[in-house]
This record gives sequence, C-alpha cells and structure tokens, in this order.
Amino acid sequence: MTTASAFLPFTRPTIDEETIAAVGEVLRSGWITTGPKNAAFEALLSEYFGGRPVRTFNSGTCTMEIGLRIAGVKPGDEVITTPISWPATANVIIEVGATPVFADIDPVTRNIDLDKLEAAITPRTRAIIPVFLSGLPVDMDRLYAIADKHKLRVIEDAAQALGSTWKGKRIGSFGDLVSFSFQVNKNITTGEGGCLVLNNLEEARLAEKYRLQGVTRSGVDGIDVDVLGGKYNMSDILAVIGLGQMKHVEAVTAKRAELARHYFDCFGPDFEARTGAQLPLQAFDTSNFHLFQIILPDRGPGTRADFMTRMQKEHNIGTGYHYAPIHLFTLYRERGFKEGMFPISEKIGRLTVTLPMFNSMTKDEVERVVAAVNAILTAEAPAQ
Ligand SMILES: *Cc1c(COP(=O)(O)O)cnc(C)c1O
Repeated sequence: MTTASAFLPFTRPTIDEETIAAVGEVLRSGWITTGPKNAAFEALLSEYFGGRPVRTFNSGTCTMEIGLRIAGVKPGDEVITTPISWPATANVIIEVGATPVFADIDPVTRNIDLDKLEAAITPRTRAIIPVFLSGLPVDMDRLYAIADKHKLRVIEDAAQALGSTWKGKRIGSFGDLVSFSFQVNKNITTGEGGCLVLNNLEEARLAEKYRLQGVTRSGVDGIDVDVLGGKYNMSDILAVIGLGQMKHVEAVTAKRAELARHYFDCFGPDFEARTGAQLPLQAFDTSNFHLFQIILPDRGPGTRADFMTRMQKEHNIGTGYHYAPIHLFTLYRERGFKEGMFPISEKIGRLTVTLPMFNSMTKDEVERVVAAVNAILTAEAPAQ
C-alpha cells in the first residue's frame, strides 16, 4: 500500500519568525557567548519556577551531572534511578564516580515504582533520580516523604516535564534539585541546552563554577579556580531561542493536552480490548504529554520493529521508542546487570512505541495516526 500523504514525523520543533530574527540580532551584536540573553533567560525561568534560582547549561545531561555534584554525590555513593530513560540519566551517575542502582518501573505510570525505590535504599544511598517519563510526574508527596525519611538528595530528571504540575504546582517550583532539558525534541527547545532549579544562591554560585572550569572571580585583579568545573555554559545564541520559546509554554502545554485528548477520543474506550495494546494514563491534571506512548500487544520478538516499519512503509508515519532498558546496555552488563533483573522495564522497553506528538501537530494528523495504528493492530498478519 502506498499513500499520498506527506511524511508525518513523531516530533518536529516549532520556532517562530520573531525568534529567528532575534537569533540574527544576537549574531550581529558582537556578543554571542554567555551574556545578557542568558541572564534574561535565567531570570525568566526563575520567575516561571516561582522565584527559585535557575542556572542554564549546554545540555540536560550536564545539568544532571552538575546537580549530582552540587548534591555532594561522590565515588562510593549509590544513586537510585529507573531503567527506562535516556542513557543520560544513569550515565551521569557513573560520570561522577558513583554507583547506579536501578529500581523497576510501575507498569501503569511507566515511571520508577516508589515501593521498589524505597526497597533499594542501602546505607550507601546518597541520592535518587526519578524520571518523569513523557512528562508524567511520580507521586511527588511520596517521593519527598521517602527522601526525607532516608535523608537523600533528589535530582529530578524533569527533562520531559516542563509545564507538568503536581497538585496545581509546576514541576520545578518545589522540591530539591530539578533538571530540565531544552534538547530539540522537548516541548520547549533551545536546540541543545538545559537548566537546573536550585535551592539557594549558594548552590547557584556553585553551579556557575561547575559550568565554567571552577573559575571564581576574586576582585578586579584576577581569577582563581577552587573546584573542578567543565565547559557547560549556554551561549546567548541558544538563550535567545529559549526566550522566544518560553513565550509559548502555556499554549504548547494546552495544545498537547488537546492533542492527547483527541488521541484518547479517537482510539475510543474499546481500543485496549479490541487490540490488546495499552494507552498511556489520562493524566490531564499533571502531565504535559511530552510523548504519547502506547504499549504494543506482544506478538513475539520483532513486534515493535514490525509495527514501526509498517507505520513508516504503509502509512508514511514516523514513530520512535523511549526507551530501551538502560541496564541491558553493554556498559551496564559489564557492571553486573543482566536480563531478568527488572522484568517490567524489560517488557515495556521491548513493546513501547512513541506516536507522533508535537506542538504544531493537527487534529487531522492525530486521526491519521489512529487510523494507521488501528489498521495495523487489527489486521491479520501480512501474507509472506
Ligand atoms: C532529553 C533527556 C535527557 C537529556 O537531555 P539532553 O539535553 O539531551 O542532554 C535526560 N533525560 C531524559 C528523560 C530526557 O528525555
């Protein structure tokens, strides 16, 4: 079957003309590295997160790494996280010399199971990194009750959760250290980048040092270096994109909720019974619907590859998967992790598929995706 419809990607950034012009102005200004636009972007983000200090970085990955350093995580410490995330979430734990410990996910939320997280705590546990997959927060009251009880630092991997809320409060406006990403697929992008919401100005000062070689300014006559920092600052070229993007954050969040609602309406209440697939939670009170993910019915090895190929070849629709379980990557197997340790993550990691969802998507496009998914999941297996 061929289709005349244009290719529909699973994600696509939207940058308005005003922002494109503002990038041109920065480029012509003579100051293109970290400067006034970055300061303005940090101030805007701080206001968005209820006045908490915010510092920007050149990726969401280094944002989390610096979060771990600020939290005082050191070699010998254990940090607990989920197997179902982008590798960055666990890699940063190894990067600071600590030991990653995984806790399996909850099959309904697909986020770390907080009972299993609590059971994984040992005397060496120093911090936890919950991930808010697809923009769905974990139970934040329970998370912080566990952290308080066991005196653990929390670095929230809120890379996907800008605009998500918990009991009416924005993710980032409360809690411990909260890390966001502005990578190109995220709801709000700077091309590449990230930001960390901090508890106080002392931590913010430390963040500034970690992002630029540990340099401190000591008076007019020089600099000193007193911690080992790296090169993680965000340029004004990127910050000005962030300023332009943040103008749309409320509209983007509302638009995605509308698209998600349309997905649920079009799939209909009998979709799961009809196909054996599983829809995401209808978490309209908390999620920003960064991703719209379904779990495919298990038709053996190759289930997802076959589905994705047919979406592409028969319907001209791009899909993705987020994510393969981290503990089964070679680097982690070499550290002793193996198949069978986190069965729910392994199953969902094998069968999850991400359907198109992006800021400029239309309701017609949602309908096109639903028709394609229905056609594939309810059809007989194709003749060889
Ligand atoms: C995007 C993402 C990251 C990493 O962010 P980068 O900006 O690409 O470094 C980390 N964790 C999750 C869950 C993400 O989605």
